[in-house]
Amino acid sequence: MAHSTDCQYGLIMYLPVRALRRAVIPLLALTLVATVSAQTRVPASSAAPEIGFAIIKTAKVSVMQGLLKPGGSFSKKIDSNFSAFLVKHHQDYLLFDTGMGSRLADQYRQGMPMWWRPFFKYEDPVLPARAQLDQAGLPPLRRVILSHSHWDHAGGVTDFPEARIGVSAEELDVIRHPGTGPGGTWASQVGASTIQWQVLAFNDGPHRGYDRSLDLFQDGTVVLVPMPGHTPGSVGLFVTVDSGKVYFFIGDVAWTVDAVRAGAAKFWAAGLLVDHEADQTQRSVGQVRALLQAHPDIVVVPAHDSTVQDQLGYFPDWVR
Ligand SMILES: [Zn+2]
Repeated sequence: MAHSTDCQYGLIMYLPVRALRRAVIPLLALTLVATVSAQTRVPASSAAPEIGFAIIKTAKVSVMQGLLKPGGSFSKKIDSNFSAFLVKHHQDYLLFDTGMGSRLADQYRQGMPMWWRPFFKYEDPVLPARAQLDQAGLPPLRRVILSHSHWDHAGGVTDFPEARIGVSAEELDVIRHPGTGPGGTWASQVGASTIQWQVLAFNDGPHRGYDRSLDLFQDGTVVLVPMPGHTPGSVGLFVTVDSGKVYFFIGDVAWTVDAVRAGAAKFWAAGLLVDHEADQTQRSVGQVRALLQAHPDIVVVPAHDSTVQDQLGYFPDWVR
């Protein structure tokens, strides 16, 4: 265990910075963990809410906690989730991120270089969001929004041909220039000419400390905000559910809530490698941290944080 850890760090140290940056996502897989101490546990319910959400876990990977969590254990394994988030607003549904999709095995073969595979992987089974939604009898979704276009978030885009795929203008530029590797936006996932991209326009003014926002239903309950840094066009999503509780989905701005509370974006080596722009990422983390300090009742949900997600429960159960 310790040997493989040393190898992993050794590999990272000798890779060119560019390659390291492309390794971004893989390191996500190494998602840290931490306690969600101040987060209130809200049991999920099988009854569909008027406004609420369900976490669709499409896959996960078990990783060494110590790899990305300073002071963490190298003998203890923790799960990093690959999740999609189904938001219900009365009669409308939207999906925030897609997690791993039905074509992931082929995409992975095309997009993940051999030398990265031992370090950046996922575990079977993959349970695509589309398959889980179909099985539950939901009609085809008309709207999907990506927190960003990395492979472990956009893997299911082509599973939703009926949907408009919302991304920020900056992220669409990344999508138009895809790459490979663990921190990449993959052509196999986002390159099809048939994908109905929709650019998100943040024209709804300030929201919870963010200068710009997009209030999707114009009632303040489902609101997108720009959170650049991890990728140029990363976005976050606030959802206020039936109970009045506010949840903040922050994508990969930080891997754990504890990291947010500490104001530490990511473990130093990981941050060097994975974030598109470190200073901007740090500012985005600081903004979430300040928000949490001012409003400790807000529940922050990092995309890969299994500790938070385990507490909230998974589709078909709802958080309302
Ligand atoms: Zn990412």
